[in-house]
Amino acid sequence: MSKETEQLRRWVEEAKYIVFFGGAGVSTESGIPDFRSVDGLYHQKYAFSPETILSHSFFMKKPEEFYRFYRDKMIYPGAQPNACHKKLAELERAGKLKAVITQNIDGLHQAAGSKEVLELHGTIHKNRCMLCGKAYGLDYIRQSEGVPKCACGGIVKPEVVLYEEGLDEDVLRRAVDHIRAADLLIVGGTSLSVYPAAGLIQYFRGNKLVLVNKTPTAYDGEADLLIPEKIGEVFSAL
Ligand code: ZN
Repeated sequence: MSKETEQLRRWVEEAKYIVFFGGAGVSTESGIPDFRSVDGLYHQKYAFSPETILSHSFFMKKPEEFYRFYRDKMIYPGAQPNACHKKLAELERAGKLKAVITQNIDGLHQAAGSKEVLELHGTIHKNRCMLCGKAYGLDYIRQSEGVPKCACGGIVKPEVVLYEEGLDEDVLRRAVDHIRAADLLIVGGTSLSVYPAAGLIQYFRGNKLVLVNKTPTAYDGEADLLIPEKIGEVFSAL
């Protein structure tokens, strides 16, 4: 174990109100690639950037193309929670961790057993008819073809926050409340460049801000502890 991870282990032991803030890097170790990292085959299959396809205006204009990309790149039904998800759930059961705030939409924290999960960008597991509001699960989206339709004829839209759409205010408020109350804030698997991540961590009042990220972030200078290692390895050592 590195001396940084050892330091984090001691802080976790002492802490009474741990909050974890995570990004795409948490899920890549479960085999879910960051959709922003475009692979080699991408340009043969899609004429638009992921950010364009995942925007509200694109969804409204070209829903067939949106769902082709969405089923292909956003849904990984075989993905399982990794060591980071599992350790966070364990820390919550032990009463030490109070919330997981995530930018991920895959539901893996809940699959690992976490209860207080604030999904800033929504979830692939909830979908809703745009006309009548009827709720649908993930299987309905996976098993439908083209644009998924409700019995009433409306489009069934994922409850995922698209570009150009606002975040859920209740989720944001609860995230801020937890960060304000935290005595240990662990940020993992995010470069903190995606809105509103960087703004949220400004609410932290404690003196134990830990960044676990393999590559540098713009906030490395503000961290009380920097661990440039694989997140799964760090958490399995805690
Ligand atoms: Zn409907």
